[in-house]
Amino acid sequence: MNESPCPVQKKCGGCEFSGVPYEKQLEQKQKALQALLSGFGRVEPILGMEDPYYYRGKVHRALAYNKGRILSGCYEAGSHRVVDQPECLLEDKKCQEIAADVVKLISDFKLKIYDEDTGYGLMRHILVRRGFATDEIMLVLVLSERMFPGKNNFLKVLQEAHPEITTIVQNVNPGHTSMVLGPQNATLFGPGFIRDSIGNLTFRISPSSFFQVNPKETEVLYRTAMDFAELSGKETVLDAYCGTGTIGLSAAAHAKSVVGVELNPEAVADARKNAADNHITNIAFTAEDAGQYMERQAASRILYGRPEEERFGRNASGDLVSARKGPYDVLFMDPPRTGATEKFIRSAAKLAPRRIVYISCGPDTLARDLSLFTKLHYKVEKIQPVDMFPFTSHAEVVVRLSLV
Ligand code: SAH
Repeated sequence: MNESPCPVQKKCGGCEFSGVPYEKQLEQKQKALQALLSGFGRVEPILGMEDPYYYRGKVHRALAYNKGRILSGCYEAGSHRVVDQPECLLEDKKCQEIAADVVKLISDFKLKIYDEDTGYGLMRHILVRRGFATDEIMLVLVLSERMFPGKNNFLKVLQEAHPEITTIVQNVNPGHTSMVLGPQNATLFGPGFIRDSIGNLTFRISPSSFFQVNPKETEVLYRTAMDFAELSGKETVLDAYCGTGTIGLSAAAHAKSVVGVELNPEAVADARKNAADNHITNIAFTAEDAGQYMERQAASRILYGRPEEERFGRNASGDLVSARKGPYDVLFMDPPRTGATEKFIRSAAKLAPRRIVYISCGPDTLARDLSLFTKLHYKVEKIQPVDMFPFTSHAEVVVRLSLV
């Protein structure tokens, strides 16, 4: 496989390990994670991908002009200059091919590219997503306004060239903003979303909903998380930072009941649809800040006469044990890179779930959060890194904590 460095590596900034053989990348990640986390216990060997190329099911192209020619690609790291992108070794080939053809069509149809400085022009971004298990493909065209001159012809030519596209959405983003997507979506063709599967569940992916960009390795990640949770079918489970509910829904078949908490109301709407689509009825979702939710849960326990001191006692051998059962037996938490808040962790510890499975995409914040958990009657039992993002320096880590 091609292991020569990507020509736009420096500008794009996405692949710190461009040109580095995959085995070496895994070694370096393992070392870095050990340096950060070995104080908490043994760091298991990172689970790498069999084929570390073309794993991203999502392609984004920002658009700009350079001397009258259309540039399409990523933003130069730390700026808003568009880097014309050659073939990317991480992104799904089919999605890249569609994105490139859309750029050609934009040029053929003489549609104006949006200019961030002047606010003049129409076409802003192209997003393509493919469900790897379903082969459904969504194209999102981000325009600065609702009016789309020549739309019908544009779509006709596009669909003739790419009959494999299952839905096309026009997103309207009129704002002077660095956000890719604006608030409005209009479905131009198909259902307005695609589906993908993880394990034996299918999930709906709409233009703005979060879905792991590496669906294949996500199976490995979730399998690890489920193994760590050791569910028997009797547990009450909380899935904090649940996104579209993927982890909680995966756990539901092995638990008594699940609650998912997520800040983004659109993701929660998708999570509810995902539950219905998969005929899962023992799960409920709430759109709320996870820290606030935990704090409220912990406070209501105190109201019901369960102050913190009461919840811990010593057993016959003098070990500190949870004296009363909290509302959740098992907590899954999958916060963004910034990690959890202190409020979340302190409240979680008050709720005293027997087991916590922490899925982290930010090893630094993970280390910070584990330090606090270990001061609050939790011990780290297992640390398993998973390589969700080959060629980048990012690593995902699954940790199992148990109440001491
Ligand atoms: N568990 C999901 C999503 C993980 S990404 C999955 O595996 O697909 C992290 C999620 O946390 C995002 O969906 C984000 O919207 C959500 N989030 C960020 N801050 C939050 C907060 N303060 N409270 C609750 N959810 C939050």
